Amino acid sequence: MTRRIVDLTFPIHEGMTTFPSSCHTAVKVTRLGQHEVDHRETRKLELGTHTGTHCDAPCHFIPGGDTVDRLPLDVLIGQAFVADFSGVRHREADVPDFEKQLGTRHAERLIMRFDWSEHWGKSDYYTHSPFISHRAARWLTDRGVRLLAMDIPSPDNPAECFGSELDSPNHKILLENGVILVEYLCNLKALNQPEVELIVLPLKVLGADGSPARCVAIESI
Ligand SMILES: [Zn+2]
Repeated sequence: MTRRIVDLTFPIHEGMTTFPSSCHTAVKVTRLGQHEVDHRETRKLELGTHTGTHCDAPCHFIPGGDTVDRLPLDVLIGQAFVADFSGVRHREADVPDFEKQLGTRHAERLIMRFDWSEHWGKSDYYTHSPFISHRAARWLTDRGVRLLAMDIPSPDNPAECFGSELDSPNHKILLENGVILVEYLCNLKALNQPEVELIVLPLKVLGADGSPARCVAIESI
């Protein structure tokens, strides 16, 4: 049996897309050591905890919730099912959409594929992204999903995100129930199989609400 490793992570660089609010920051990469001067090369990184492909820990929205350094590795790494919504015309994935994909399958880790990563860097990436219904968020927690990964910026309707009255209700439902969120995945259309081994490795930043994460899927051929 051979393995096929697929990188699901956006590159980190200056000028990359970041969520436009005061809660997030632009990326800065500053060269410190230089070969010509210091005989070595080093850099300083300035990143937000939700920069690029990243994990949300429960404490992102839930006071006292788990922090990113405490997320269990046995949830971050393991078999995941890919729910393919790329052909679905409506923007809101509801319970029947999940039922159709999952059937009776129990998926501890679920990857939602919309192919929305193709809008990365475009003006509609945040404003018109697909999302899941409140009912679906509750249904997923009831079904025992522990990690929900997606190639969209958020499980929430853009009309219900930062600055809105409800302010990210799906984030709250999922994180309150200890579901780890992995947002801004890319390259999901490179996957050929509905079940993969998913590896999500956020930085171990003590007490943090999230972290950029290298995410890969492994297919066995
Ligand atoms: Zn986030």
